[in-house]
Amino acid sequence: MDDCLFCKIIEGTIPSTKVYEDDLVYAFRDIAPQAPVHVLLVPKKHIPGWADVRGESDELLAHLMRTAAVIADQEGLGNGYRIVSNCGDHACQSVHHLHLHILGGQQLTGQMA
Ligand code: AMP
Repeated sequence: MDDCLFCKIIEGTIPSTKVYEDDLVYAFRDIAPQAPVHVLLVPKKHIPGWADVRGESDELLAHLMRTAAVIADQEGLGNGYRIVSNCGDHACQSVHHLHLHILGGQQLTGQMA
């Protein structure tokens, strides 16, 4: 999609620090990390958010989740990590391209909101 920051990162027109890529997904380091490890994992296909996934393939959505675990292993997060995904205004989603935050590398707080 023309006007999407993460589509431009996937295309390579905006630089990123890649940590993983395959045919379906792309992962890169968050520009403003909230933990020692903060990776963003996105589908290459432009999907605005969780409110828009109903028509998407189970294969893609399962692959996205499974790849989060692969990346956590790759990043050495054996002591634990958090997967966060913001959807819509109340959750403060700022980039409207579906993404998972993978956070870890230190003790995270118990707070969810
Ligand atoms: P969210 O607020 O859940 O939509 O998350 C968007 C995330 O994208 C934030 O954590 C930002 O720090 C991150 N972000 C914004 N621009 C970039 C960029 N150019 N490269 C990497 N991460 C970015």
